[in-house]
Amino acid sequence: MHFHTVIVGAGPGGLACARILADHNIQTLVIERHETIGAKVCAGGITWGGLISRVPQDIAEKSFPVQHIVTRLQKVRIEEPAPIIATVNRVKLGKYMAQQAITAGAEIMTGWQVKAISGQTLIMEQKESRSQQEITFDHLVGADGSNSLVRRHLGLTSNKMGIGINYQINGDLQKMEWHLNSHFFRNGYGWIFPHRETLSIGAYIAQTVIPAQRLKDGLIAWAGTLGFPLEKKQARAEYINYDYQGWRFSRIFLIGDAAGLASGLTGEGIYPAIISGEETARTIIDPDHSTDVMENLIRKQRLHSRMADWTGASPTFNIIAGELVTLGLRCGLIKFSKLEMTASGR
Ligand SMILES: Cc1cc2nc3c(=O)[nH]c(=O)nc-3n(C[C@H](O)[C@H](O)[C@H](O)COP(=O)(O)OP(=O)(O)OC[C@H]3O[C@@H](n4cnc5c(N)ncnc54)[C@H](O)[C@@H]3O)c2cc1C
Repeated sequence: MHFHTVIVGAGPGGLACARILADHNIQTLVIERHETIGAKVCAGGITWGGLISRVPQDIAEKSFPVQHIVTRLQKVRIEEPAPIIATVNRVKLGKYMAQQAITAGAEIMTGWQVKAISGQTLIMEQKESRSQQEITFDHLVGADGSNSLVRRHLGLTSNKMGIGINYQINGDLQKMEWHLNSHFFRNGYGWIFPHRETLSIGAYIAQTVIPAQRLKDGLIAWAGTLGFPLEKKQARAEYINYDYQGWRFSRIFLIGDAAGLASGLTGEGIYPAIISGEETARTIIDPDHSTDVMENLIRKQRLHSRMADWTGASPTFNIIAGELVTLGLRCGLIKFSKLEMTASGR
């Protein structure tokens, strides 16, 4: 089989890319190793300004015009007229985005894992039967997440990896909370993101600062202080790649986590995945397409990466920076959107 463009991975990045390519009558194949699209560990927080224009509002589980930020010295409530962040169920988001790509004309093969790439050919294996198939392509898009095979095929290393740990538990809360508590999370943070009938309780940190097990221990201890006993609950964790080293490599493109485009500071990765997916599609359609949007995204990603490095290097600097940023948010000197990956802010 031959396709003009093959996309490895049906995450938000791969599906956004597929929809635009197929809309332009480009023969597009998306290969996804899991049977279910979107079953990815995630807190499901999407920024209203950056993303809600791209997904229908009824996909949102809950939306939050108020954000609560808790540090060791401050408890801050930030309110804006429109919601700042909404939560989404990743399977519902995946289903919606997959349907859009299919309606536009893209083909999606689930339950197939790409095993090897050589020249303009890839080998994929069906997970159930172990049968293999060869596909040839003119363009290849690596949308295969933080441990990307396409990225490794290009010879790129991944040295800057954040780690996110999530517990999805039953519960109905109305407050979205961010806890910048250096005692438990160093320069990372703990979160409580309410969904419709569940709560995402989790923590993120750049992996170089503390190992995953210490983050998990801190998360359980912190959640216990808030009345959420997590010891016996099932945690899910995954790396978040923020080691950006390029997105365009002749006929091969990297997007989203595969490109290392997530925020090193907050772990936000859905927005960068969708934007880089869309921009890659436009570049495949027209190689002279403006790189302005990608450059803005990369600038923001690099800023977040530097901030993660600085706060990770010195615990004292981290505490001071966290308290000052929170104070700035409280006084209205800093807008919440400045901490988001949305390039323009709101
Ligand atoms: C605990 C946690 C919480 C998070 N919370 C948030 C949040 O609230 N908001 C936010 O914006 N971001 C969050 N993120 C980050 C976000 O989930 C990712 O940045 C985002 O999913 C990246 O999208 P993507 O399309 O690049 O890759 P992914 O969503 O990772 O999709 C990659 C896809 O490729 C498939 N794949 C991989 N290898 C192969 C292969 N060889 N063959 C075929 N298919 C393959 C995978 O199965 C997967 O479906 C969180 C991450 C974690 C770990």
